[in-house]
Amino acid sequence: MRVNLVSLGDIAQDIMSQLKTRTSQVFGCPMNIEPTIAVPEHAYNAERNQYLATDLISLLDEKKGEDDDLVIGITEVDLYAPRFSFVFGQADTLSHTAVISLCRLRQEYYDLPHDEALCLDRATKEIVHELGHTFGLGHCPNSRCIMHFSNSLADTDYKEAIFCAKCQPGLQL
Ligand SMILES: [Zn+2]
Ligand SMILES: [Zn+2]
Repeated sequence: MRVNLVSLGDIAQDIMSQLKTRTSQVFGCPMNIEPTIAVPEHAYNAERNQYLATDLISLLDEKKGEDDDLVIGITEVDLYAPRFSFVFGQADTLSHTAVISLCRLRQEYYDLPHDEALCLDRATKEIVHELGHTFGLGHCPNSRCIMHFSNSLADTDYKEAIFCAKCQPGLQL
């Protein structure tokens, strides 16, 4: 299995490599960092000042190589989905492609002091969660399990970056 990390828009190299290391520890598989792709402007909704997550997923899917198994996009722009005021991330099970946004994972977004470690922890959890969906896993009722649905950052901070014993066997393509 191969997992590719792609930054959509500029993300600091250091953040990308830390996310790569942390995520590969959870999945125990090789991960690559692919060249940056520009955020597609057609995904932008001026009324909401947000980007439609599925447009970013479609673009990642288009650019996907033949032997790529899973693709996760990472972006700084704020994402939304229909019927949601925002999403931390979104996944498409069929194309095994997902995206997460760092925007609302940053303390600064809530006018709190910058905390790099916390942001990386949250981003790792969001990546692992969305990749779990690309394996076909649904949401888990166990609030400590990474597949638990995060309604808020409190949920994200409470859960661990690992799959519970029920979800773990589902991690097969
Ligand atoms: Zn989910
Ligand atoms: Zn679970």
